[in-house]
Amino acid sequence: MPELPEVESIRRQLEPELTGRTVVSAWTDPLPSVPRQFARVADAVGHRILAVGRRGKFMICPLDGGLELILHLGMTGSLRFDVQDAYVRARLGLDDGRTLVYRDVRRFGRVAVVDAGDYSGIPTLATLGPEPLSEDFDPEGFAAALAHTSAPIKAYLLSQRPVAGVGNIYADEALWLARIHPASRRIGRARARTLHGAIRAVLAAALEREGTTFRDYRMVNGESGRNAAFLFAYGRAGAPCPRCGTAMRRTLIAGRGTTYCPRCQR
Ligand SMILES: [Zn+2]
Repeated sequence: MPELPEVESIRRQLEPELTGRTVVSAWTDPLPSVPRQFARVADAVGHRILAVGRRGKFMICPLDGGLELILHLGMTGSLRFDVQDAYVRARLGLDDGRTLVYRDVRRFGRVAVVDAGDYSGIPTLATLGPEPLSEDFDPEGFAAALAHTSAPIKAYLLSQRPVAGVGNIYADEALWLARIHPASRRIGRARARTLHGAIRAVLAAALEREGTTFRDYRMVNGESGRNAAFLFAYGRAGAPCPRCGTAMRRTLIAGRGTTYCPRCQR
């Protein structure tokens, strides 16, 4: 699933291609798999794309006329130009003759148009925590947020509320780096500060390598990210912990496969 480093890598490729272009046509899959998956996409027609921004795992493109085009890749979504196959779920024709194509095998993503800033139909975006690589994400605020939840730490991170953009891969990575057990429900101030630094470190390193490609994630040019070879925890169950050599274990937290070191994550 694309997380912050993957979505940001895609955003950086899309920005010069889309900024200033006008949408001239729109098509979406007539059978959406989740409610409002393709809400109001036709409203983009006739509007110019002013920028390609990002919040968490959402790309947010302001359009002239007070609208925003929201792109979310879900589990398996990707954005390409001028391709056609059975997994295409949405198409936006542009005034330079190209078509931005949204492909999605498992159909959990979203392409929608909203009034600027109105995310009432997109609850995850409406309640999104601070951007992890911005100054808004401060260690004290993060520690306070963790002190007010009784959820397992990994589940809380996946909710996107304490911090935006961290999904299954980077939650496992950051918790390993911070030596925190993913099911831990009590994270004191000192450990919260450590986790804050770990989240920033793993996201910044992955962004430098243009994200992690396991199966589906590709950038707009079709290339893979290079971070998969650098993972400490995610997907390494049974392999030795890079820190202590103990076999890494796999469990389920919030329904998601979770890998951790039983010895050095407490
Ligand atoms: Zn270990």
